[in-house]
Amino acid sequence: MAKMFIGGESVGSVTNNTSEVRNPATGATVDTVPQGNDKDVQQAISAAEDAFKVWSDVSPEDRGNALMNAGELIKKNTAEIAQLLTQEQGKTLFEAGLEIHHLVHGLEFYAGLASKVRGSHVPLPQKNAYGMVVRQPIGVCGGIVPWNFPLTLMGTKLGPALAAGNTIIIKPASTTPLATIKVIELIAQATFGEGKAQKPLPKGTVNIVTGPGGSVGEELLRNPRVRRIAFTGSTPIGRHVMEVAGREIKRVTLELGGSDPMIVMEDSNVDLAVKMADVGRYFNCGQMCLGVKRLFLQESIADNFIGALVEILKKKTVGNGMSKETRMGPIHVGAQRQEVEEQVEDAKARGGKVLFGGERPKGAEFDNGFYYLPTLMTNVPEDSRLTKEEVFGPALPVYTFKTLDEALEKANASEFGLGSSIWTRNLLHANKAIDKLQAGNVWVNSLHYGYDELPFGGVKSSGVGREHGPEALDYYLEPKGVVVVNI
Ligand code: NAP
Repeated sequence: MAKMFIGGESVGSVTNNTSEVRNPATGATVDTVPQGNDKDVQQAISAAEDAFKVWSDVSPEDRGNALMNAGELIKKNTAEIAQLLTQEQGKTLFEAGLEIHHLVHGLEFYAGLASKVRGSHVPLPQKNAYGMVVRQPIGVCGGIVPWNFPLTLMGTKLGPALAAGNTIIIKPASTTPLATIKVIELIAQATFGEGKAQKPLPKGTVNIVTGPGGSVGEELLRNPRVRRIAFTGSTPIGRHVMEVAGREIKRVTLELGGSDPMIVMEDSNVDLAVKMADVGRYFNCGQMCLGVKRLFLQESIADNFIGALVEILKKKTVGNGMSKETRMGPIHVGAQRQEVEEQVEDAKARGGKVLFGGERPKGAEFDNGFYYLPTLMTNVPEDSRLTKEEVFGPALPVYTFKTLDEALEKANASEFGLGSSIWTRNLLHANKAIDKLQAGNVWVNSLHYGYDELPFGGVKSSGVGREHGPEALDYYLEPKGVVVVNI
């Protein structure tokens, strides 16, 4: 049985209750984990508070060195972590390896930034006085993580939190705790300093509490000793997180759902755009916040584009992510597959035409997993569920347009505003899209790259605040205004 990790120790829950983690490809049990509750979180908070007293005093350079070392330890264990991730999440081994690569890159990025945090010196009207802005760590942070990218989305919280001198408690999704536990154990082994002066990470700097959102997550939200919450997940739960954090006057960032438009102009590199539409929608079995969820094609290229995309989908091997032949694994849980099926059926009932997929794959090997074929549809009414809601699975509606203005209007007709892309070689088109797209991120001739170097986040119902980039550090630091009078 896997264990939680609190205060430097692998532990069970106070109740000794456990829950099973199932493989979405086979239905088999992968392992069991402790089912933690509010009491387990309180223990983790006490451990993280004790660690904060030490960790916040470690020099920024050494904090960076520890994060760097954590990245090395994870890299060395990539094969084992990738297997765990594929078994509990369903993604292919290739996708799991990529996720671990991104996790390590993110930790290294914040390792480098740890010693670059600056305050400021401020001249004041009074001649014998000056002001300063000192930027300090906040304290104990809570990171609440979804199941689609359990490791990278944990790292986007843990990296900046630790670099800034905070300590952290991670709450993974109930269905994907295993690879995260392994990674947290490795991070806890990280050291800093040279030779004999080498020191381990203070116990309690990183913690993981497994268990349901309704108890473990809620305690992180409600307990006043947790000073900051970084949440990634669905928009409905995000609304709840913000309400509770508002009552507790707690700092919060929300990375929520998306319905990203991809606009392809006739003046683009169409062949490349076809390939990227495939990656953009069907990578990770379509379970990406920043996946392409609405495809807009200029009329003159639409038929060829669709034909080429269907050819790619015909060749896509759906199956267990552990097999090297598999290009798309199962949907993560049964309820999620059912939601995608209902969204597709709603579009069909309203006149939508299935160009590929639109059903489960047939064959005994698919019986016990949550498989669904990559799906492409046209003639989908714009007010259908497939277009209006976030579709968190491998189904894509495609639309045509005459002018860029028309495409931008349709692209912006969504409650979401996470990512967006425009494919064109015309700088005027690109600049107009950059200006007008209502989204936290615009990619020109590129797709859904959550670069560590750039801020990432959403507008409208897609979230509040930013992860990635030096910008993310701001959410883990408290600016303190200081006045010094020379007397
Ligand atoms: P979810 O149901 O909102 O769950 C996310 C996390 O919140 C899980 O750890 C969940 O725990 C926890 N949780 C549930 N109820 C809670 C509560 N009352 N208090 C505190 N925490 C609670 O989302 P999901 O289905 O795992 O993930 C898919 C969603 O995440 C999609 O909408 C996707 O777009 C979004 N997402 C956004 C980004 C981004 O960067 N914008 C990135 C990835 C995913 P349990 O598992 O125990 O329920």
